[in-house]
Amino acid sequence: MGIRWRYLWAGFFVMLGACVQTPPPVPASGAVTAGSECRTPFARIAFDFEGASASTCAITGEREFDVLITPEHAPPINPSPWYAFRYESTGDALVTVNLRYLSGAHRYAPKWSDGNAVSELPIELSEDSKSATLRLPPGKGQVSAQELITTADHSADLRRWGAALGAQPFTLSRSHDGRPVEAIRLGRTDGPRLVVLLGRQHPPEVTGAVAMRAFVDELVERLAGDPQAFADHQFLIVPLLNPDGVARGHWRANRGAADLNRDWGDFNQPETRAVKAWLDALPASVRPVAMIDFHSTSRNLFYVQGDEEASAAQQRFRAAWLTGKENALPGYPFTIEPRNANPGSGTAKNWFHATFAAPAYTYEVADTADRAATRDAARHFAAALPTALETLKD
Ligand SMILES: [Zn+2]
Repeated sequence: MGIRWRYLWAGFFVMLGACVQTPPPVPASGAVTAGSECRTPFARIAFDFEGASASTCAITGEREFDVLITPEHAPPINPSPWYAFRYESTGDALVTVNLRYLSGAHRYAPKWSDGNAVSELPIELSEDSKSATLRLPPGKGQVSAQELITTADHSADLRRWGAALGAQPFTLSRSHDGRPVEAIRLGRTDGPRLVVLLGRQHPPEVTGAVAMRAFVDELVERLAGDPQAFADHQFLIVPLLNPDGVARGHWRANRGAADLNRDWGDFNQPETRAVKAWLDALPASVRPVAMIDFHSTSRNLFYVQGDEEASAAQQRFRAAWLTGKENALPGYPFTIEPRNANPGSGTAKNWFHATFAAPAYTYEVADTADRAATRDAARHFAAALPTALETLKD
């Protein structure tokens, strides 16, 4: 930590008593977090919208603020420091915001939005990546770790897909906060072969959501053109498994302080339990044959079953769907990473594979992936799915 940072830290603690609001009380079930704000006569930053981080701010100048980026529960927690705030200023001077990571280090390049276009902002990063300084254009705008895809966006997607195919989104369950965990069933509802698509178990993993949205768009367009496009398959699609985490700007967990992708097996959380209950209630004639779980990490990859535990049919599926395309999709290089199950890991990947003897993959998109290339690749993978699914049939 350089001299400049030490000086700012000292300043921060001096300001702490005067300027930081007391954290808001834990809201009643279903309520929206109030968030905090910092205001000077010239500028204001606020954390008062869905997806905003539960951050604390301090005033360090007329148009300068510190923002403390903290996780939703004590470490250990995956280092995905999410931040999102909005600001307004008067005059034509820049607004300076110093992000300070109290756990983890800077991961996501800031995205600036005026409500229309989203652009990436330059930052000055400290040597230890524990602080980042942003200089914001005057006026007003919103800054977030990744572009915001909110509950309302996911809900609108479900309604759009439903309208295209005459299907009705439904609520699988309610989260701890009382938010709906919504799903839709597409394709032949009497189709005996079920493909499960999951998204947003981990709130900041927005690039996974970008891929999933394009993937389902492609499925929907194919099914709209030809209801038999996926033969005897149907889909259960759950794009937002962790609505509380997304709404509250969490780094990883749901409102029960649980990593949902470690709960498949225990099913202690309402969101994961709801998917299992829905599957349990299926008639014996309908069985899951594949599962794809969309996430984000540092690079594009698919976690797949290792050769030891993949049946011949599952190996055929992997070869038909993924193999040989690693460097073939424009702007979207990826790797295929076989991993044998770590018993009791609690991931959706391992639970679906162990329970249904089906290929169950984690579809990981790089944090920094080109968004257009991510969408194009996702459409390619969706288009290639019918042929790959056929290889699972003995
Ligand atoms: Zn993840």
